Amino acid sequence: MKTRTGATALAAILLAGAASFASAASVPTPSEFLGFEVGADRKLADYRQIAKYFQALKAASPRVDIEVLGKTTLGEDMFMAVISSEENIRNLKHIREVAKRLADPRGLSDAEAQRLEKEGKLVLLVTCNIHSTEIGASQMAMEWVHALATASDPETVRRLNDVVLLLVPSLNPDGQIMETEWYRKNLGSKFEGSRMPWLYHHYVGHDDNRDWYMLTQKEAREMTRAVYSEWFPQVWLDEHQMGSNGPRIFVPPFSDPVSTEIHPLVWREVNVIGSNMALRLEQAGKSGVIYGFSYDAYWPGGTMNTAWWKNISGLLTEVASARLATPIDLPAGELAGGRKGLIEYGPQTNFPNPWPGGRWRLRDIMDYERIASDALLEVCAQRRQDFLRDMVARARASIAAFGPNDAYRIPAAQRDHPTALRLARLMVDQGVEVRSADNGDIWIPLAQPYGRFVREMLSEQRYPEVKLVAGRDIVRPYDVAAWTLPLMMGVTVERASLPGNLRPFRGESSAKASEPKGAAFAIQPGSPENFKAINAALRAGGSAEIARAPFTAGGKSFPAGTVVLDTAAARAASAAAAEAGIIWTTLSSAPAKLEKLQAPRVGLYKPWAASMDEGWTRWVFEQYGFDPKSLDNKTIRGGKLNEKFDAIVLPSVDKDTIATGKPHREEGDMRYFPELPPDYSGGLDKEGAKALKDFVEAGGTLVAFSAASDYVVDEFNVPVRNALARSKPDDFSCPGSLLRVRVTPGHPVTYGLPDELAVFLDSPIAFATALPGMEMERWVLASYPESGRDILLSGWIHGEDRLARRSAAVAMTYGKGKIVLLGFRPQNRAQTNATYPFIFNALYWSTSR
Ligand SMILES: [Zn+2]
Repeated sequence: MKTRTGATALAAILLAGAASFASAASVPTPSEFLGFEVGADRKLADYRQIAKYFQALKAASPRVDIEVLGKTTLGEDMFMAVISSEENIRNLKHIREVAKRLADPRGLSDAEAQRLEKEGKLVLLVTCNIHSTEIGASQMAMEWVHALATASDPETVRRLNDVVLLLVPSLNPDGQIMETEWYRKNLGSKFEGSRMPWLYHHYVGHDDNRDWYMLTQKEAREMTRAVYSEWFPQVWLDEHQMGSNGPRIFVPPFSDPVSTEIHPLVWREVNVIGSNMALRLEQAGKSGVIYGFSYDAYWPGGTMNTAWWKNISGLLTEVASARLATPIDLPAGELAGGRKGLIEYGPQTNFPNPWPGGRWRLRDIMDYERIASDALLEVCAQRRQDFLRDMVARARASIAAFGPNDAYRIPAAQRDHPTALRLARLMVDQGVEVRSADNGDIWIPLAQPYGRFVREMLSEQRYPEVKLVAGRDIVRPYDVAAWTLPLMMGVTVERASLPGNLRPFRGESSAKASEPKGAAFAIQPGSPENFKAINAALRAGGSAEIARAPFTAGGKSFPAGTVVLDTAAARAASAAAAEAGIIWTTLSSAPAKLEKLQAPRVGLYKPWAASMDEGWTRWVFEQYGFDPKSLDNKTIRGGKLNEKFDAIVLPSVDKDTIATGKPHREEGDMRYFPELPPDYSGGLDKEGAKALKDFVEAGGTLVAFSAASDYVVDEFNVPVRNALARSKPDDFSCPGSLLRVRVTPGHPVTYGLPDELAVFLDSPIAFATALPGMEMERWVLASYPESGRDILLSGWIHGEDRLARRSAAVAMTYGKGKIVLLGFRPQNRAQTNATYPFIFNALYWSTSR
């Protein structure tokens, strides 16, 4: 998709005057174009200004093209600039074809490969500002492209002849706009440069860089399509910023651990580039450059991290932050290491020239980024042919790592067919070659360029216990430790030998939307996708009923939790059901003894601490048709919640944030929380706690996820406690792993769940329960196995014995209402579909009698 619109009046004038070669004078600098000094203290260009500037560059320079990747979550155009020599820009179609061929060299002879390596151009992708507060690169991008568009020195000309640069000034345009608006609004006040009290991505905030294997959000999907279906870059740099008080810039090499699924040539290239960045920075007199620090080479969730498994050399830079465009002063005594690769702040081989402290500003950030970006372009041009050859070598090695018939099979016959379809579609979206058989089985051959990515995502993780010094301590995971999709999604996937007679699978559902014919339509519980159809049916005014006990109809038995739609409801749900692959059973008459199903009115607590789990939960609820209403502190404190809600969900937010609005933050022996503007300060406080209790006592249902269950245990008089509440990291640690639980069948919250499944645990939470008084009923919904040995399914855990026999999820009555506590993360980053039924069932339990 190309856009030819949006050129400003100035650009149009420039275009009118432009010859085939754009002279430096005819291309305005960002500062000239925007009318203020870009990079100056307290000045920020917002995304729309940046977009206009790039349009002007495109109009003025034959070296610049613009491609719109798609719409953002809030409806902006997300664009990518393409920068190269004039000749390359005219020849992009062919350059893309060559890049694609090199990325998938199946059937390519050595001679052909050599010819393509010689004539091909290096495709380099640079993405900026996915984290919206890390705003420097979005400003630097304008200056960088201006320089590339106007330079006439032989070195720049040569670089542009060898490299096609794809530059994305912001991977989250919505957030870039939100942050610049927030910043401008608070300029000159005591909150200048403060954190925004809401998420900078409408749904997922900072987790927008944790979505790259799951692809739930638009921005990740659009970039992924451009990378793995259209451009096939060989090198990808993602530019970030980090905390303020450590090194000034991180450049690769990455730190340990390293994934064994990634070709070592990826690391060799990354290290060559990173070392050149460090060299050029040092030569320019920039101190504080570090490598081998904090950021590992193991976790696949981030932008260019996922790309490693697809044979791309992915790099990260992290520059120290100011307060957006407001400078900060850091005395030497506040500079600190404290992270992997730099425990004490001081000179080391990976950090030979520490920054001494002083003033740090946006201009510094942009200068460091610009030098690193130019150093990257320099190596990519110099090593063009090498790097193209390496791409072929890596893709061939990936293919050769497997036998020709090595494959994964996703059987058509399985407990949760719709989620299995979802997993197969995700693989297609990732650029993986997927096939289907006549019997509906889906096959993923492994002998393909992205075969190692497939194996990484479909098999169990065993975290490598790398030690930095002799002794017991290992390097702890940077992010989570498990991402085994079949376990997270509750899908059966098996290794098997590839059969013949398969056809390409592109995501089509085997279920077809058709006019429902019959009296009643039974949907068996088990798939979270069912709720899309059920909610669509009820929203359209159809009638649905639920079986509280097993029944038989037409000679077939149905379990408790089966939902039966009438014809009007089935008609309303038919499209959603077909798209999701839901298969229902047509019955000649509606079974007796069913309970009318009522759509729950769902409130979702939204703290002012910009909770990502709140955002993810909101996204999941919207996707599945629950239409949640956000509840801020003030609304909850106002009470009368039963008038509007049947169920209130507390996402995983720590208890201090819920109670007081001040996250528990400790630095050494210091406990400090920066003030928020008055409109956004405080938590639920005493009135909020009382309002929630009144809500439950009067018949409401309160559902708490993970960390928030600590709040409920503290505030409500319930015979439950968190058995790990006082554990220290030396006793128990589980940074995000998949654990086995046994499910108690037959409860309305466990309808359709298998006897055993994987839950995602990332905090020390496991429940001990006690026999309640006569006023209350309590249920253990899921519990960990008897022996610690049986608990870990994927990832890493320390102290697993402390989970043995503990409850993972509990429910209880409370007054006329109900409480459900889920100790694990039931919807972690919208990836754990296997445990969504706990949530959705709990929401529907709220309206049951
Ligand atoms: Zn970042």
